[in-house]
Amino acid sequence: MASPGAIIPISELCIRCTGRIFAMEGHGMSNTERGMSFIQSESSQGRIISSVEPVECAICHGIFTQLDLYASEIIQRLSEFEFSSFLLGSTFPEETINNESLLQGSYGSRGESIKKEFNRELGKIIENKLKKELDRDDPDIMVKIDTRYMKIDFQVKSIYIYGKYRKFNRIMPQTKWIKYSEVKDTIESIIGEKLNMLTGGDLYYLHGAGREDVDVRMLGNGREFIIESCNPRIRKIDLAKMEEMVNSSGKGIEIIDLSLTTRTHVRKIKEEKHAKVYMATVTSDREIEKESFAESISGINGKVIYQRTPLRVSTSRSDLVRERKVMCVSIEDIQKNSARLRIEAEAGVYIKELISGDHGRTNPNLSDLSGMKLIISELDVIEIKR
Ligand SMILES: [Zn+2]
Repeated sequence: MASPGAIIPISELCIRCTGRIFAMEGHGMSNTERGMSFIQSESSQGRIISSVEPVECAICHGIFTQLDLYASEIIQRLSEFEFSSFLLGSTFPEETINNESLLQGSYGSRGESIKKEFNRELGKIIENKLKKELDRDDPDIMVKIDTRYMKIDFQVKSIYIYGKYRKFNRIMPQTKWIKYSEVKDTIESIIGEKLNMLTGGDLYYLHGAGREDVDVRMLGNGREFIIESCNPRIRKIDLAKMEEMVNSSGKGIEIIDLSLTTRTHVRKIKEEKHAKVYMATVTSDREIEKESFAESISGINGKVIYQRTPLRVSTSRSDLVRERKVMCVSIEDIQKNSARLRIEAEAGVYIKELISGDHGRTNPNLSDLSGMKLIISELDVIEIKR
């Protein structure tokens, strides 16, 4: 045995590991062939190089004799997954990697690492047996082999489905939230559970293009989302069936325009900022008089407003003043102390506070402008301008 830090003598290597020292030379040869040819050429010059059996080898310890064993274990465990491409990654003891690199360095660093050869040779066997493609860039399944413990793990690429949702009730949060911990159904859970029934996945995540308040309905053209199914067993999903399963669940949500997408799309929809059109039912502490109310509305119609973070969300968002534009406000209907307003506003306007004033934190606001105490009793998003 070589002492730590010392270079392992080539005589303690098997033929394959000897050949791997020169892996960059002689194309179309296996490392074993390279090893043979090196030993022959040395001996023709009178230098006798001995080699050991693979199990005795100071570098590989015979791991290449176990390739078929690894392959059949991996293939058997992969059988529960539908996939079209895969990639292998392996971990070897640090000592092995260091010893090999020291040894190869002493011969001019013309070799390749044991890891690379192991992944390639194992990959070839699996590729041939399964007729699946090895994909370096974006494999469906990454097979991770820890040779120290003969441990095999899979990293399965999530499935991402893009769509738009509508929500017809005023009780459902988009995702599970501590604040609504008693709420069982969320938009995420309804869509995610149906999706995972089709994929056999274990977890799911909904990535929304923003979110509406729990008590706000999302109507019109719907809100964009991407639902992610983690560790899917099945990758070919019938999207029409998924849409039907969600829409017939009777939970008050509907999904449309589904399509398969990729992880990179998630950030894009989360970053998008769109103006929105709302229908708001505003309730006053007294009867609303149409003419003066219309005049009050002109104080926010087409105006830039300044909103300090609302009290109701101040625990979860940083306290600052936002400058936002309210594009258009019009009266749809007035009935005694209630009015329906159509409000079109830039992304990020807090509509409830635009009406209530939020104790002076939103300026201007319709309560101050009208001299009435106004609140929004019902709010719907009726269009997202995208
Ligand atoms: Zn070896």
